[in-house]
Amino acid sequence: MVFVLICANHFNSILNIISYFHDYEEDILRNILFERAEMEFITHPERSDRYVELALKLSTKYNTKIPEKWKRRYCRKCKKFLYPGHNCTVRLINSEVNFFCGECGHVMKIPYRKEKKIKRRAKYESIKKRNDE
Ligand SMILES: [Zn+2]
Repeated sequence: MVFVLICANHFNSILNIISYFHDYEEDILRNILFERAEMEFITHPERSDRYVELALKLSTKYNTKIPEKWKRRYCRKCKKFLYPGHNCTVRLINSEVNFFCGECGHVMKIPYRKEKKIKRRAKYESIKKRNDE
C-alpha cells in the first residue's frame, strides 16, 4: 500500500530506489563473486569458473557493467576465470596489452596508444616550458 502511494506521488523516488538496487547488485558482483573466484582458483578452479558465469548472468539480468578491476580477469570467448601466472599470460606487443588465455588460446588485445600519445605530448610540453623560462 505504501509502495503504491509512493508510486503515485513521487516517481523520481522510485527511480532512486531502482538505482539503489542496481548499485547493490553491482556491489555483489564486484565484492563477492569475483573475489571468491580469485580466492578459490588455486584449490578449485571449476568453482571460480562457475562464479564468473554467475557474475556475467547477474550483470545481464540487472543491466550493470562488470567493474573495471575485474573486466580483464575472465576470457571473452570461453568465459573462464584468468589468473596471470597460472592460466593466463600478459604481454605488451605493438602498443597493445595482450591477455593470452591458456584454456582456449584466445587473445584479448587492449590498445594503449592514446595513453602513450598523452604521455609523449606532456613530455614535449614540459620541455617547451623549460626552454621558454
Ligand atoms: Zn579462453
